Amino acid sequence: MRAEIIAVGTEMLLGQVVDTNSALIARHLAALGMEVYHHELVGDNPERLGAVIRQARDRSDLIVVSGGLGPTPDDLTKQVAAEVLQVPLATDEKALDQITRHFQVTGQPMTANNRLQALYLNGGVALENHNGLAVGSFYRVEAGADVLLLPGPPSELTPMLEQTAVPLLQQAYQQDEFLESQVLRFFGISESQLVTKLATLIDRQTNPTIAPYAKVNEVTLRVTARATTAAAAQEMVAKTVQQIKAVVGEYLYGYGDEGSLAQVVVAMLVAHHMTITGAESLTAGQFQSTLGDVPGVSAVFPGGFVTYADTAKEQLLGVPVSVVAEHGVVSAETAQEMAERSRQKLNTDVSLSFTGVAGPDSLEGQPAGTVWLGLAQRGKQPQARLFHLSGSRARIRERSVLLGLDWLRR
Ligand code: ATP
Ligand code: MG
Repeated sequence: MRAEIIAVGTEMLLGQVVDTNSALIARHLAALGMEVYHHELVGDNPERLGAVIRQARDRSDLIVVSGGLGPTPDDLTKQVAAEVLQVPLATDEKALDQITRHFQVTGQPMTANNRLQALYLNGGVALENHNGLAVGSFYRVEAGADVLLLPGPPSELTPMLEQTAVPLLQQAYQQDEFLESQVLRFFGISESQLVTKLATLIDRQTNPTIAPYAKVNEVTLRVTARATTAAAAQEMVAKTVQQIKAVVGEYLYGYGDEGSLAQVVVAMLVAHHMTITGAESLTAGQFQSTLGDVPGVSAVFPGGFVTYADTAKEQLLGVPVSVVAEHGVVSAETAQEMAERSRQKLNTDVSLSFTGVAGPDSLEGQPAGTVWLGLAQRGKQPQARLFHLSGSRARIRERSVLLGLDWLRR
């Protein structure tokens, strides 16, 4: 099933508004198992819109158009679609009622062109608009491309798409095929390394498919299976996930589109009834702030320390100035002292410390990106790990926080 997406609006052509509708529509179509081969962006011009719809009709099974359903003279999507499909437009009486009532309630005059907002492609389905006046339209064509028309404003399109259009498409196309998909989230491995390690698995698979995509600071894989029953599709996905885990399981930290490394760590601490604190030099509170982003973290995180200067490390944590003087502030010894002493101060089960060179200048003869993390755990010797990071100051600090969270997760 090939689908094609058309965004209509001169404001987007000129770069005044960014086309977010198409991205949202594409994600939903992909989740329905459709192949999206083309996106087009076209201005509010009936000839050019007509040409784009005709082109789409010749190569796709479904055309989704957003924008141009409004009452103004530049809103011509329905008229153009009706002309290309050679079907008349009809008035959705329910929508017309809603429009009429809207103008009664607001006391504004209703003009003739407001009636246009209740038009849909005759013989198709009118999609109710709960956040605006223009109805959407879904029209099935016996031998040719089906057409789905959606309003332009994202506040109207999003609920119409998610609540009405997606279930409609599901019903229209699903027949006897069930689609199951699972997203796996990885940290600490690059996309190219991941794909290389999984090359044989990925190449061999056509059902389920394994599709990688990289996001900022993480890599994800989407495993998608099709089968004649939902249970069979789920089982196929589960089996492939097991095969993936056997190869790169150590880097896998979570599932699904949502959820950060911090959420995974906090959930783990909560589950084990373990408390945590932090002592931050390099990151100056960014680690604790990241923990603070997670709802419910207060159950495991009493507070922590930002100790930038040596004197703060001594006064707040009791790290002897002599340790810093002897080993340097960017050292395993300082990281371990910071972690263990902060853990003792607040009597937590775990503490993580951060000390390093954020740059751009070097420190104590160590280049920017030299980072020591310390980990203290109740009843154990504190540990330290060295990392050599690259990039900007912001990236080094952010990366340090994520490496710390990843260490805690393992
Ligand atoms: P209206 O009844 O508001 O005129 P409409 O269906 O005619 O709705 P348009 O006139 O095409 O929609 O667009 C209305 C506004 O919605 C645009 O000015 C723009 O800000 C926003 N919009 C339209 N299309 C998109 C899109 N693809 N992505 C993001 N925003 C969009
Ligand atoms: Mg408009």
